[in-house]
Amino acid sequence: MKMDAIIKPAAQPGLELVRKEVPVINDGEALVKVHYSAICGTDVHIYDWNQWAQDTIKPPMTIGHEFVGEIVELKGNTSAFKVGDIVSAEGHVVCGKCRNCRAGRRHLCPNTKGIGVNRDGIFAEYASIPINNLWLTDKDIPEKMYAIFDPYGNATHTALKFPMIGEDVLITGAGPIGIMAAAICRHVGAKNIVLTDISDARLELAKKVCPSVITVNTLNKRIKDVQKEIGMTEGFDVGLEMSGSGIAFNEMLDNMIMGGKIAMLGLQSSDTKINWNNMIFNMITLQGIYGREVFETWHKMTAMLKSGLDISKIITGEYDYHDFEKGFADMKSGKSGKIILDWAKN
Ligand code: ZN
Repeated sequence: MKMDAIIKPAAQPGLELVRKEVPVINDGEALVKVHYSAICGTDVHIYDWNQWAQDTIKPPMTIGHEFVGEIVELKGNTSAFKVGDIVSAEGHVVCGKCRNCRAGRRHLCPNTKGIGVNRDGIFAEYASIPINNLWLTDKDIPEKMYAIFDPYGNATHTALKFPMIGEDVLITGAGPIGIMAAAICRHVGAKNIVLTDISDARLELAKKVCPSVITVNTLNKRIKDVQKEIGMTEGFDVGLEMSGSGIAFNEMLDNMIMGGKIAMLGLQSSDTKINWNNMIFNMITLQGIYGREVFETWHKMTAMLKSGLDISKIITGEYDYHDFEKGFADMKSGKSGKIILDWAKN
């Protein structure tokens, strides 16, 4: 049986919509009929064929990893899932054998393989997903929201890494993940939330998703001045670095309280320089963040949406998958939130 799939056909920029065989699933896997998928920045890197993509992706392959869909076939013993279940899935496939996996710390598996990166992805009518990676959806949450659980999970993992109640928070980078992180910090009881970017369009979107966030365009204004304006005197308690900009990271370091904690999700370039003594004398904690804590983050994401967190406005575009080029153009404009590709209309 054949299906439509969006693939990276060859080692060059661009993607292609093709007909290919429906995956044959192995023991321990589910075949999922994809309903909605979302485009990740990673997918844009693969489209553009940047250095990371050239080093990582082995064409031809189906890409994409953010999705929700329906189980149509299962191979293997599981009491947790059945055919007909609506599921999303953790995109990191772990080995299950290493020390961290055996101890239940799956997010720290050094042998992690990415769906749509190291194995065929979900920009397709059907996809094979390891049963251990599936996440059952909740009927109280709109199905489409599950298409963005992967990046919402990055935001959740980063925002909740350190205690947040009553804290002043600085978030650098107002991409979709930074904006969702601001909404999460508000939901769980942060005090002031300052979100910076150099794009007014992104900061405006942030205001739509989380109206109480204090947005700052750092092309025009210094964070030190913002601190004074809002009555802060000692610096931010928690920093969430989501821009990957060395300039933003350094300004964050300059604005932390003594003993402040920084969670870093944005990928810094290898030549980023920081003032180390600034970090040392102020006893700053730096914590790298990768992916989601499987499945604790997924549990918290579900709980927050069920208890009133609303991030639905972060979805700014939806296209039939035949029009995927329009979705990628939106993503590349630098003004969009999350973009959904609809596979359910067939
Ligand atoms: Zn492992």
